[in-house]
Amino acid sequence: MENKWKRYTVTAALPYANGGIHLGHLAGAYLPADTYARYRRLKGDDVLYICGSDEHGVPITLGARKEGITPQQFVDKYHSLMKNSFAEFGISFDIYSRTSNKIHHETAQQFFLDLYNKGVFTEETSQQLYDEQEKMFLADRYIMGTCPVCGNEKAYGDQCEKCGSSLSPKDLKNPVSVLSGNVPVMKETKHWYLPLQNYEPWLREWILDNHKDDWKTNVYGQCKSWLDGGLQPRAMTRDLDWGVKVPLPGSEHKVLYVWFDAPIGYISATKELKPNDWEKYWKDKDTRLLHFIGKDNIVFHCIIFPTILHSHGEYIVPDNVPANEFLNLEGEKLSTSRNWAVWLHDYLKDFPGMQDTLRYVLTSIAPETKDSDFTWKDFQDRHNNELVAILGNFVNRTMVLTHKFYNGKIPVYGNLTESDRELIASIKVAQQNICDSLEKFRFREALQELMNLARAGNKYLTDNEPWKIVKSNEERCATVMYLSIEITAYLAQLMQPFLPVAAEKTLSMLNLPKKNWSAELKGQLIHPGHQLNEAGLMFRKIEDEEITAQVEKLKANQKQVVLQTEPKNPESEIANSVINYDDFAKLELRVGTVTAAEKVKKADKLLQLTIDMGNEVRTIVSGIAEHYTPEQMIGKQVSVVANLAPRKIKGIESKGMILMAEDADGKLKIVSPAETVNSGSKIS
Ligand SMILES: [Zn+2]
Repeated sequence: MENKWKRYTVTAALPYANGGIHLGHLAGAYLPADTYARYRRLKGDDVLYICGSDEHGVPITLGARKEGITPQQFVDKYHSLMKNSFAEFGISFDIYSRTSNKIHHETAQQFFLDLYNKGVFTEETSQQLYDEQEKMFLADRYIMGTCPVCGNEKAYGDQCEKCGSSLSPKDLKNPVSVLSGNVPVMKETKHWYLPLQNYEPWLREWILDNHKDDWKTNVYGQCKSWLDGGLQPRAMTRDLDWGVKVPLPGSEHKVLYVWFDAPIGYISATKELKPNDWEKYWKDKDTRLLHFIGKDNIVFHCIIFPTILHSHGEYIVPDNVPANEFLNLEGEKLSTSRNWAVWLHDYLKDFPGMQDTLRYVLTSIAPETKDSDFTWKDFQDRHNNELVAILGNFVNRTMVLTHKFYNGKIPVYGNLTESDRELIASIKVAQQNICDSLEKFRFREALQELMNLARAGNKYLTDNEPWKIVKSNEERCATVMYLSIEITAYLAQLMQPFLPVAAEKTLSMLNLPKKNWSAELKGQLIHPGHQLNEAGLMFRKIEDEEITAQVEKLKANQKQVVLQTEPKNPESEIANSVINYDDFAKLELRVGTVTAAEKVKKADKLLQLTIDMGNEVRTIVSGIAEHYTPEQMIGKQVSVVANLAPRKIKGIESKGMILMAEDADGKLKIVSPAETVNSGSKIS
């Protein structure tokens, strides 16, 4: 399909500047968008790949508060971490900007004013939760309470991270301020709302009618259920001091809602990159706007941001939003709070020069239609059995043999057989299939086609055994080697969007320039007499020890969580490391009173404890059944690590852990206050 688009604006979700980049982020948005952008450039299209750090919003202020630094220092730190990892990994952004830039503040404010002046917003005065001690309105993330849907006691005011429900602070039962721990009061405040419900007919037509066939079913389905559920006005401003200031008089302590300002970051970044002709990438109807995101961002990129763009009137809306599902890790959900994640900056340190391997594996298992699972064993298998054994092996054999037989000079070939012609035809088919799949955002399928071509090459070499006929049938040997080099040349060109490092290496070994896929990638790429450069190894093998080390590292990093059921030698614990006060301050330690206790079925060591924590009652599973009977535990006061991520033990959800002292003989003793205190008392 030759296309109607003059240019492409490709965006990948702005990563939030409160951590690093992990494999889930890469698989969700950055890698598919990068593969796609590289493909478009190879086709000779005008494409911009836009991204940057999202640096506003409440988790930033909360994170900075925790680390004892300013929000600006906080985002500076994570922005450079993310920017550097992306650069080293080779994500080919045309620009990686950030939303704390002046140009972004100006752009977002102007956008807000444009909508304000057009009368798009409604003004509403409402009662908001207010922390009297801290003298501030509480943003959704500053409020915690019990989720009305699943009963999770640590749900935030905007979302329950356990069941995924989208919430409003008023939905929460027993809300408390994250800042002071106090129960917030209601106070009056004014905000500007985007009346999404007024745009419902337009959204229905645009998404449900016009994109029924080309949007991914997971994306389309989510949009449909949002629309069928009925849209509500959404506040586009917040009471907060960190962010883009609301550009209206009397709004000193108000900022733009982070989901208003962040997507406009794509526009500001384009402006920064192309100050003179940025507009055509956002306003010209011939421009194809594509948002690459993870599934958690679908509503923002398919409903809210398009409504903002559409209501402005001058902007185009996305033509597609190829959102991915989630990537799991070793069979479990990725979790940054439990540190169950593989971080890109760690990977780059541990596997220097092996960017392509990660690209290959993450594309092979891309969560395009459903969640998928990354395991280190599979990573090793795919690298050793596919990249090394199929692609690397074929290129290497071809290069080495051509050097051996012809000193690297492409021989004059003879008559082609039927199977030679079939092979040549299969190159064309592979090329076409790769392009078709990439056009449809089916990256797994496209990569599979590439590998099938390498497989065909390997089979051709093996079937024809040129090493056996080099003396006896010189003409046939020359033909076989010529065709093998021709396949290698196509592979080198076609692997560029997927494996840019390996592609560069192979092209350099072949002594060939990159070709434009639209104009030049046809017919013969290699001609007799062409001189090859030295052959080099494309991939090294990954050893078992490297994989074992990664699995151990992953487990060690989430050590705090498993400590409870696997007591460690106390001496080695002390020797382990020194922490600073910030690390200690992250722990929330409280005294709880055991109100009930029972043995956990089929687990000799475990007791299930019901613990009164003052304003809540918790279940904690503890490995103390060999040291205390259930009866002994009832009424005891225990020290609880209260902010530990919940964990399922023998099917029971354990929320927190109790502290134990281990005697020299291995006996565990609970750690209790010397005198009885109120349940829920803070330990510091
Ligand atoms: Zn919930």
